[in-house]
Amino acid sequence: MKTPVPDYLNHVLSQCNSNDQGQLADYIPELASADPNKLAIALATIDGTIYSIGDDDTEFTIQSMSKPFAYALALKHHGISAVLAKVGVEPSGEAFNQISLDAKHKLPKNPMINSGAITTHSLIPVKKKVSRAEHLRRFLSELAGRELSFDEQVYQSELDTAFRNLSIGYMLRTVGVLEEDPIDIVHGYIHQCAIKVTVKDLANMASVLANGGLQAKTGKRILERDVARQVLSVMMTCGMYDAAGDWLTSVGIPAKSGVAGGIIGVLPGQVGLAVFSPKLDEHGNSARGIEIMEQLSQDMGLHLMEGTPSAQTIVQNRYQIGKRNAIVVYELRGVLQFTESEMLLRILQDEPASKNTIILDLTNISLIHNVGVKMLFEGVNRLKEDGHNVVVLDAEGILTEEQCKGRKRIVVKQDLQEYLKKVLKKDPK
Ligand code: GLU
Repeated sequence: MKTPVPDYLNHVLSQCNSNDQGQLADYIPELASADPNKLAIALATIDGTIYSIGDDDTEFTIQSMSKPFAYALALKHHGISAVLAKVGVEPSGEAFNQISLDAKHKLPKNPMINSGAITTHSLIPVKKKVSRAEHLRRFLSELAGRELSFDEQVYQSELDTAFRNLSIGYMLRTVGVLEEDPIDIVHGYIHQCAIKVTVKDLANMASVLANGGLQAKTGKRILERDVARQVLSVMMTCGMYDAAGDWLTSVGIPAKSGVAGGIIGVLPGQVGLAVFSPKLDEHGNSARGIEIMEQLSQDMGLHLMEGTPSAQTIVQNRYQIGKRNAIVVYELRGVLQFTESEMLLRILQDEPASKNTIILDLTNISLIHNVGVKMLFEGVNRLKEDGHNVVVLDAEGILTEEQCKGRKRIVVKQDLQEYLKKVLKKDPK
């Protein structure tokens, strides 16, 4: 059997093929020579599988889609509060290149508009031979899983007409948000926007954000969870410029567009999406890209506000074995967040006080949230107070060292069958 996902994507692509609305961006002269017919979609699941169709090998410049990743890099290096002291998180409702600051704090309103993005660029660490833009290129290459390069022609073309971004730079220097020569920073920001990507690269980048900062293919944690969450929150409220509200209601996922015609979207916990089509609507977002994203969101039920109900099946199996049936095994399954933990504790409430051994097997738990860890061990303590001996089996090591601290006698990193064999041998029927 062949998965129908590519056929579905092809269907969406052919449906919007006839849409010829929009204009090529021309304030960067080089972008005006792009082929307006190019069209591509890519979808990357959080386990690293990628589907792509159309002009999926065509490279174009990342432009404003670099902003969330530059923000991520700044957060990674300085921490959230230090970055918040320089750039706010309020949607501006203004055009991307508005020359404005937050009236009260005299800071750029958010990192997704140019004033905020130029500031964020200045927060990327710089070393002797590694410029900020180069630092970001390396970071994006890691996220994309291949070596990316700069489009020097687009860079030069934007430099030649960068008057507006330079005015923003001077404004930021005047109020002290930028502490260095604004020309260097603005040039670096423009270089960052000229990194070349394909929809596949973008979907891979988006899927790392969807996966809370973890890159499935390499198993590497590239961003901390709180950084990924911060980036996605800002994309959600500010990513689509002055069309952010429209986007949130009709598509409903964190996203970012770029003037070369790309849009990336992230459905947390599920997929990273990317589309490319160079003609832009009046807000500067890809016209066909928006149509595709709306279609995908509708067909695939992506809208965040629809929420994903809990699977409601935390206990996959419960049975008693051993002498006098004194070993009670709970095989748990799925995700342990608040809803599932509450359900588990409600089920455990029915265990009558006794000297039984209760085994909580985490082998099939795919994700455990901090609140899940807290509630699980609170349940363990209460079962112990009732006289039980409690063992948490963590064969896959889903609990971190930190979470196991002080619980060495409770958490056993062993497979359920092996563990049962051992205890049943010691204490046969
Ligand atoms: N380099 C472009 C600029 O700063 C990016 C704008 C965009 O993609 O929206 O004007």
